Amino acid sequence: MAGQLEQALTKLKTTGVRMTPQRHAILSFLLDSMTHPTADDIYRALEAKFPNMSVATVYNNLKVFIEAGLVRELTYGDSSSRFDADMSDHYHALCEVCGKISDFEFDPVTYVELAAKERTGFQVKGHRLEVYGVCPECIGITKH
Ligand SMILES: [Zn+2]
Ligand SMILES: [Zn+2]
Repeated sequence: MAGQLEQALTKLKTTGVRMTPQRHAILSFLLDSMTHPTADDIYRALEAKFPNMSVATVYNNLKVFIEAGLVRELTYGDSSSRFDADMSDHYHALCEVCGKISDFEFDPVTYVELAAKERTGFQVKGHRLEVYGVCPECIGITKH
């Protein structure tokens, strides 16, 4: 993960985004945790270290990272967005019981984009695909 942080920091420099201790902490937390946390999760994990930081500050810093192309936001309505610092091509499986998000790799389903372009005339820029269900841990719990 150290290598990923270095890469992210280098990329940030080229975009002219100023690195602050808070931003550094948020980015390292995202890269280390890989749990797709909410802004609130990040806030709670770092509040001891940065007592003056608010959830709004965390959110604003995340927006900066998103604009710089370092973080992606997975929106689930309201304030329940989750954040992912893994910018590689991957899909998400979401547990409806505990809310855990697991990454999985799969060849991008580019034919969906092609079909969409053909049938709607859209200039397609991307797609979002998620699967929903129950994670292995929760299957174990519900079975007992
Ligand atoms: Zn679960
Ligand atoms: Zn992910």
